[in-house]
Amino acid sequence: MQIHLTDVLSWDGKIMEWTIPLEMEEFVSALGIFPIREKSPCRLTAENLGENQVRLLGTAGITVVIPCDRCLEDVETELSLHIEKEVKVLSGEENGTEEPEETEILLGSDLDVDDLVRSEILMNWPMKTLCREDCKGICKKCGKNLNLDSCDCDTAELDPRMAAIRDVFNRKGCPNG
Ligand SMILES: [Zn+2]
Ligand SMILES: [Zn+2]
Repeated sequence: MQIHLTDVLSWDGKIMEWTIPLEMEEFVSALGIFPIREKSPCRLTAENLGENQVRLLGTAGITVVIPCDRCLEDVETELSLHIEKEVKVLSGEENGTEEPEETEILLGSDLDVDDLVRSEILMNWPMKTLCREDCKGICKKCGKNLNLDSCDCDTAELDPRMAAIRDVFNRKGCPNG
């Protein structure tokens, strides 16, 4: 959903508040597409700092489904987002190249709240997602989820330390390597 910052810009120091429902049903990024299971509306405050500069403060909460790094089972991950950013509102003709880098340029006065939240999700994306701390993962040979069942595969040769040694061996054995 879009909000319009035109009213905030009417005088210096003006503050406006919104509660905006999020439209996104999934989080799409370079990492993949992740369904959003729950979301709370974005509460957003905009303050006119003068000279077309607007400070945005906001919160939003979403629960996104991320596959476990080891077994790929769905993990519902709650992210509570805190938005804090300053934007400079410029009309289409002006150029903002002289602005300091930390200030984001907004062309026109329409702000897409979903975009704002999306960039915040990316910044809060967990480094690691596990269904549980001791997740056993999936068997590299037969693909069985080892949390649910064990398998009889001989995985000894897939030990990463062994694999490293084997790689060295293979490289030595290859005349072109
Ligand atoms: Zn897992
Ligand atoms: Zn197996």
